[in-house]
Amino acid sequence: MDLNALFKISHGLYVIGAKDENNRWVGSCIDAVMVIEVNPCQIMISLGKNSYTCETFLKTKALSLSVLPEHTPFNTIARFGFQSSRTTDKWKKETLFEKEGLPFLKNACAYMHLKQNTVLETATHYVFLCDVISCVAGECDAELTYNAYQKNIKKKEKTMTQQTKWICSVCGYVYDGETPFEELPDDWVCPLCGELKSVFVREE
Ligand code: FE
Repeated sequence: MDLNALFKISHGLYVIGAKDENNRWVGSCIDAVMVIEVNPCQIMISLGKNSYTCETFLKTKALSLSVLPEHTPFNTIARFGFQSSRTTDKWKKETLFEKEGLPFLKNACAYMHLKQNTVLETATHYVFLCDVISCVAGECDAELTYNAYQKNIKKKEKTMTQQTKWICSVCGYVYDGETPFEELPDDWVCPLCGELKSVFVREE
């Protein structure tokens, strides 16, 4: 099986949001979204079983969906895609608006409020058929496709990360952790001298 073949099926990137039982907003970046029919309006989404957003949506049955624009920053995709809402407040750093108690990303190409209708279970995923309760197109009409993300945003970020060094201006320590430096919490300190993240300078 050449799995690259799967990437030839073009699709977009989306951020979904839900509210968990503790009234905390959770969310995820997904690519498996498909319009099934327009009248009645139904779309299908697929979520990995390990995802906390999936776990939440199974229980609460309500979901927001924001269609990402092509200029979406890498950090937004990384935060929603590579971190877990179990441990991270993914919405904290985003410009958002709230509707029906759910979070939506501002400046997205479109917004949809979804209600769970039917759930199918596969080996690793739940597939949800959802009723579209409401939807609205945003001002941005250039959606981010998955391929454009791979080719433009992810590749560019990789090149930038390889070239950019973050250096402690106090002791000269060069950051080499796995987490992108920008994603480190504000109270992170230099492992050598203990100074705050804010004393680090970027060297290209
Ligand atoms: Fe230092």
